[in-house]
Amino acid sequence: MATDYDAPRKTDDDSESIEALKERVPDKLSGAVDSEDSDNPGFELAGADLSDLDLDVVVLPPQADEFTCVSCFLVRHRSQIDHESKLGPICRECSA
Ligand SMILES: [Zn+2]
Repeated sequence: MATDYDAPRKTDDDSESIEALKERVPDKLSGAVDSEDSDNPGFELAGADLSDLDLDVVVLPPQADEFTCVSCFLVRHRSQIDHESKLGPICRECSA
């Protein structure tokens, strides 16, 4: 039962590759963190802002009095519709 527990070669391989990784990662990380810390203090804020905007746009559903132009794919008010094409409504901006 417990005879299959010996696998010294596998363990050796693992520790070897991990060692190789460890030698590279700290070098890269320290360099990146150093330059980001001093050069881009607002990087995190910009990322948060973007995700916020993304959520807002995605959540917005087309209302009953709105349509999605099949040419520019923008949601517009019905008053902005120019005509219905075979594919769907076209806004005034796109038909102009
Ligand atoms: Zn359009």
